[in-house]
Amino acid sequence: MTEALKAKLFHSLGVDGVYGRTGSYEAVVAGLTRCLDGLRPEAAEVFRFPPVMSRAQIERSGYLKSFPNLLGCMCALDQPEAQARVAAGTCTETADWTSLLSAGDLVLTPAACYPLYPILAARGGLSEGGVTCDVACECFRREPSTAMDRFQSFRMREFVRIGAAQDIVQFRQDWIARARALADDLGLPHKIDLASDPFFGRTGVLMANSQIEQALKFELLVPVISAERPTACMSFNYHQDHFGETWDLKTHDGALAHTGCVAFGMDRLAVALFATHGPDSTAWPLTLKARLDL
Ligand code: ATP
Ligand code: ZN
Ligand code: MG
Repeated sequence: MTEALKAKLFHSLGVDGVYGRTGSYEAVVAGLTRCLDGLRPEAAEVFRFPPVMSRAQIERSGYLKSFPNLLGCMCALDQPEAQARVAAGTCTETADWTSLLSAGDLVLTPAACYPLYPILAARGGLSEGGVTCDVACECFRREPSTAMDRFQSFRMREFVRIGAAQDIVQFRQDWIARARALADDLGLPHKIDLASDPFFGRTGVLMANSQIEQALKFELLVPVISAERPTACMSFNYHQDHFGETWDLKTHDGALAHTGCVAFGMDRLAVALFATHGPDSTAWPLTLKARLDL
């Protein structure tokens, strides 16, 4: 069933977890985008990011310590000598032209909120009350899979709150409730659970345990492929002062800013809708089609 659905929604591009998208699938993603536009917090500032970001910024953010296995880096034939050799055909497709590549100054953005914090920090301290932002990005994570709910390239939308610790905790609490209401509207069976990030290596296990103990991450889980192992379609994250410290981002009274985000996996939500309501979106319940404006 999931294989047939996958074939209906996506075009194979010859690599696991990277797909061309069909029109009916994209219409659902657009509908979800409109739903989230409607839920955008008042006064949220909007940022739309490209699929690449500064390598220096991701290095400073600590991403490589936690998730070295997931990061993708842009490479190019930067050296004139390498360019000349490839142009002259001394390196053919079958020869190893990739050994002439050098790492560029870009990485593939792994989550939509990473590029935001340095922008805010460059503006100076936050004004009283902090700030709320609406960010979106096509994200990349090196986790190839044939599963219908795990991609290497996928879209993420986030509402991000930056301010005092108690603001962030409240923001996350409010968003868990709003997200559940949205999932109900969309007819998606779900549960909320504590979660941890897949931190790398042996110290990663300790970091994941501590994340659970401190209840820093929750997920909204929907049965997409199986009920036993439901799929995380949204996450609710409290970073404490990690980004405040990294970017020297301060609140109006000079304390390190705390940050948190609610992240919507747009492709996961779209797949969840098809898995729940069937492969033909024209046959979905009228109320659902109305909610998505399909
Ligand atoms: P998972 O536990 O499934 O790997 P995650 O904890 O890595 O998810 P987050 O880092 O919280 O996910 O990312 C925010 C949201 O982005 C997730 O809740 C999910 O909806 C979506 N997402 C994350 N990784 C993928 C992926 N490989 N393919 C599709 N969507 C993804
Ligand atoms: Zn985020
Ligand atoms: Mg993951």
